[in-house]
Amino acid sequence: MILEFLFVTCCCLYLSYRQLKRTRKASLTAIYDLNDIGRPSDKRIGGNAVICGGSIAGLLTARVCADHFSKVIIVDPEAWLVTEEGMRDHHRQQGSDYMASRKRSRVPQYTSMHLYQPFSLMALRKLFPNFDRELEGCGFLDSGDPGLRISGIPVLFPTGIPQTIWMTRPAYETLLRRLVLSTCSNVEFITGSVTSLQPASTSWESVAYVSFRTASDAETLQVPAALVVGLFHSI
Ligand SMILES: Cc1cc2nc3c(=O)[nH]c(=O)nc-3n(C[C@H](O)[C@H](O)[C@H](O)COP(=O)(O)OP(=O)(O)OC[C@H]3O[C@@H](n4cnc5c(N)ncnc54)[C@H](O)[C@@H]3O)c2cc1C
Repeated sequence: MILEFLFVTCCCLYLSYRQLKRTRKASLTAIYDLNDIGRPSDKRIGGNAVICGGSIAGLLTARVCADHFSKVIIVDPEAWLVTEEGMRDHHRQQGSDYMASRKRSRVPQYTSMHLYQPFSLMALRKLFPNFDRELEGCGFLDSGDPGLRISGIPVLFPTGIPQTIWMTRPAYETLLRRLVLSTCSNVEFITGSVTSLQPASTSWESVAYVSFRTASDAETLQVPAALVVGLFHSI
């Protein structure tokens, strides 16, 4: 009788723990949201999703929006990003002189050491099913085993350690750009510097246009927007 009681109590505690863990994971992390990305909508939203800035966040946002909008426009001031140079990681092959000449003028951390965490890898695999193959030659995956030993005895991690991505920042950015532009035919780059947003009405309930200065700085143009994504404190 006591054994039965203990058994039922343990089962209840275990199930409660699992449920609590799942609820906390869902509310504190985006781990379950990954199930919803990388799936094209049956019916796309008409109009443009305009992404201000074509770096890591901009490229990933463009990839997600490409599944839901008829057209996605990335506006970024640096014209070389969408040339052949911006699609390939020439930096490693060409040495430090090349690297110095090809800095990202608005991304000061472009030459800093970067490491990409397991969550990035999980998202990238959902967004680009060919990610692991494309990574070959420009970066690699770490098995996650830190080789931890205590007094010479290996420490075992029963559920394994998630993999991380090892890649330079230029390699990561060029890989993402290549993947986005090769897999999403509805994504377009415009060279320009976003300067302001134009509301649909005076009450600013929604944005109608994004204004940007062209590369030559000669004129300011507007692009219609159904959705605008960007960090606007600097505009
Ligand atoms: C020193 C350092 C080390 C880091 N290490 C890591 C790391 O190891 N791992 C990691 O995951 N993250 C790391 N990060 C963070 C990572 O670099 C940022 O999270 C990432 O760059 C953010 O991407 P982003 O696209 O938001 O912005 P950014 O990469 O800063 O890009 C901004 C983009 O906006 C464009 N832009 C600027 N002004 C305008 C305008 N007016 N109109 C249109 N476009 C515009 C720029 O040209 C650029 O393309 C590090 C950051 C720093 C500073």
